Amino acid sequence: MTDGPPAGRPGPVWRLRLEDDFRDTPLARNLARDMTPERQEPLSPADYGRFGPRDILVTRHRGRFLKPCPGTPGYNCCGLHIFHFGLGCPLGCRYCILAAYLDTESLVLFGNLEEGLAEFAALLDRPAGERPLRFCTGEFTDSLLLDRRTGLAERLVALAAAREAVLELKTKTDQVDHLLGLDHRGHTVISFSVNSPEMARAEEGRAAPLAARLAAAAKAARAGYPIGLHFDPLIHYPGWEKGYAETVELIGQTLAGARVAWVSLGCFRYLPRLKEIMLARHPGTGIFNGEFILAGDGKRRYPRPLRTMMYKSLAENLARVLPAETAVYLCMESPRVWRDVFGHDPGPYGLTALLDRQALISRQ
Ligand code: SF4
Repeated sequence: MTDGPPAGRPGPVWRLRLEDDFRDTPLARNLARDMTPERQEPLSPADYGRFGPRDILVTRHRGRFLKPCPGTPGYNCCGLHIFHFGLGCPLGCRYCILAAYLDTESLVLFGNLEEGLAEFAALLDRPAGERPLRFCTGEFTDSLLLDRRTGLAERLVALAAAREAVLELKTKTDQVDHLLGLDHRGHTVISFSVNSPEMARAEEGRAAPLAARLAAAAKAARAGYPIGLHFDPLIHYPGWEKGYAETVELIGQTLAGARVAWVSLGCFRYLPRLKEIMLARHPGTGIFNGEFILAGDGKRRYPRPLRTMMYKSLAENLARVLPAETAVYLCMESPRVWRDVFGHDPGPYGLTALLDRQALISRQ
């Protein structure tokens, strides 16, 4: 019944709660190798809130496993499709938008994953032009948090490698060793969410330390994986410029010679509800200090001139350490901010096309 922490700093001892329908699935068998399952009555999403950050719930997903990234009208979207294998994340970042969307701190894994994998394979088998190119996991949880126990990424990497698809695995852990020997054929990008050293330490809960994430990125790069980096959220605090410059410097040192397919930049934004939740959980956090405006998508964002200044600073520093062919892009930003930062706006489909081209470069 016990198991160690997921990544980085000390974390919860897990409690695995498994519905009967899924006892004989590959997912349950993999998890049960080092956790003893407790029997769980069937749950509906309304029940998830009864469970806490120590709980892993293996339950049924009702609905489609593949969804386009919802995007936001008026902002340029990267055009990813999401393979939805679970939700929730006990890493506990203090800005985590999931806290405003989900009524649980537990980790929910979908027991009917085999149906999801079949849906994914069927989509990938459609003719080119009738299916998207880039897919990710990790929009509603961390892609690699428990992956060495679930064995999911290995199966997804194999699916993508055999087809015209590119998979992005996004993480704030350093858990890549189990992926290094896979025959990925350059069809999987392993991405790391990064921040300034101060913000990683203060605001990113039990995520792996920044240096450990970058060391894992270097290992993955040596195993031939293209790498993605996501500076999201960029947080405005006294000393932000120096802090983020330090991270860029570390990237230059650790990933020299690696193929970095893309780097995204996104300033901190939040639904008003998140502030109440996070200040109740972490009264000491400073991330809600400062000036925010209410944006058209109902989120609070830094004022546009401040976002522009932060993006420009990051983009200029990144250009000094990464090759010119690395795509540096803005996540969920308006055409106006794109123009102010880069001098051009890629338009609604331009960003998708740019990232598709980047995704194709490393494929064998
Ligand atoms: S790693 Fe991502 S999903 Fe997990 S708590 Fe942090 S922001 Fe949320």
